[in-house]
Amino acid sequence: MYLFDQTAERERLELAADCESCFGLCCVAHAFKASASFAFDKPAGKPCPNLQVDFGCAVHRTLRQQGFSGCTAYTCYGAGQKVAQHTFGGIDWRQAPETAELMFQTFPIVRQLNELLWFITEALDRCSPGADHEALLGLLGETERLAATRADEMSWGDVDDHCLIGETLLGHVSAGIRAAALSVDRERPAARSAPGVSAGTSAAGNGPSRCRLASCGPARRGPPRCRFTRCRFTRCRFARCRFARCRFTPC
Ligand code: SF4
Repeated sequence: MYLFDQTAERERLELAADCESCFGLCCVAHAFKASASFAFDKPAGKPCPNLQVDFGCAVHRTLRQQGFSGCTAYTCYGAGQKVAQHTFGGIDWRQAPETAELMFQTFPIVRQLNELLWFITEALDRCSPGADHEALLGLLGETERLAATRADEMSWGDVDDHCLIGETLLGHVSAGIRAAALSVDRERPAARSAPGVSAGTSAAGNGPSRCRLASCGPARRGPPRCRFTRCRFTRCRFARCRFARCRFTPC
């Protein structure tokens, strides 16, 4: 049986942000609007005034107090260090200003692909080995290949088409997982009342009686946002994000 090690795979794909290896790309490439999450308007491609010469943030310790709570919730899924170190070879946009425009265009595309990789690893961790598993592994490989494309060959068109395929597959996998969770939920009262079966074990006595998905509660405070990414920007800031709502939550 194929066992998927989500932690190891996410480490291999470098999906955790490593700001030390980045050139402050999220603080430059994205546009922000003054709101509860960000204190002022900032156009895309212009450095945030708080970005320092070493790509640190001047208000890092007091982001929330100063009106930048969105910055604390944001993640690039490792796109920053990938673009900075792999795609552009560790030469930053201040050292090589002629690369700046392409670098700032590339970053959100790679972020989109890395976000897709994150969701694929989530799906692989949750679905049973079988047809969906194989399809997800294929999608993962193709997404990884696209994310490694040369910057001057990368385009939103290709990525949009690919993400549409990914979205369809993830929706299919998600529906299967939800259906399985619902059927376990329906069986639970019978399992509890069966003699010799204690709460928290399956009727067969060989594992948890409910999928982890079922533990997601319906209560949600504040604006809807993905439970996994915790990214508050995905719904309103980045219109291109297809994964604004997590597909793996049942509520
Ligand atoms: S406030 Fe700090 S973390 Fe937020 S965009 Fe500006 S420099 Fe980056």
